[in-house]
Amino acid sequence: MTPERYRRLRDVLDKRQPDLTVLMENVHKPHNLSAILRTADAVGVYEAHAVNPTGGVPTFHDTSGGSEKWVYLRVHPNVEAALEHLKGRGFTVYAANLSERAVDYREVDYTRPSAVLLGAEKWGVSPRAAELADADVIIPMMGMVQSLNVSVAAAVILFEAQCQRLAAGLYARPRLDPETYRRTLFEWAYP
Ligand code: SAM
Repeated sequence: MTPERYRRLRDVLDKRQPDLTVLMENVHKPHNLSAILRTADAVGVYEAHAVNPTGGVPTFHDTSGGSEKWVYLRVHPNVEAALEHLKGRGFTVYAANLSERAVDYREVDYTRPSAVLLGAEKWGVSPRAAELADADVIIPMMGMVQSLNVSVAAAVILFEAQCQRLAAGLYARPRLDPETYRRTLFEWAYP
């Protein structure tokens, strides 16, 4: 491990946000899952979440850019378990959902513990997940097509969160607890 590499790992860990995450509900296509993880890495998500009722290990694609090595992915058996896990850790869950009750995604305060729930490519967020989420957010669409690709929607919302967190100084000092920081640095340095 060169000193430069070690410094780089520390620089990235210094910016990890333990209280910002995504929950992917049945996002099956490996290129979408991978693209979302890549964006999650870019905004400093420490751990991402997925609901995968088939229980299989998620498959990654080149679009991840290797981000699966840097963003932990916790897989839950169903949406109830995922929401219970996140809410138990103090997250407010925002469903990216094209519903009547949805508010503009820029109206949300993402400096507070926030999880962005993303739905399946074909069916969107399930009614059960939407019911369990705290609020729905929408990216206003002004064209002919009704929705964005799920990984694009994730990027739009996560970069709004990054923008708010930068302004609030949340990337200015390490946010992981010291034990998690040390353990992660060791895992990253000696995979
Ligand atoms: N027919 C589906 C529906 O009605 O939700 C479209 C699914 S869309 C291709 C896949 C996922 O991307 C959605 O479940 C949502 O999480 C996210 N998404 C796409 N466009 C969005 C938008 N304009 N606002 C909020 N979320 C969006």
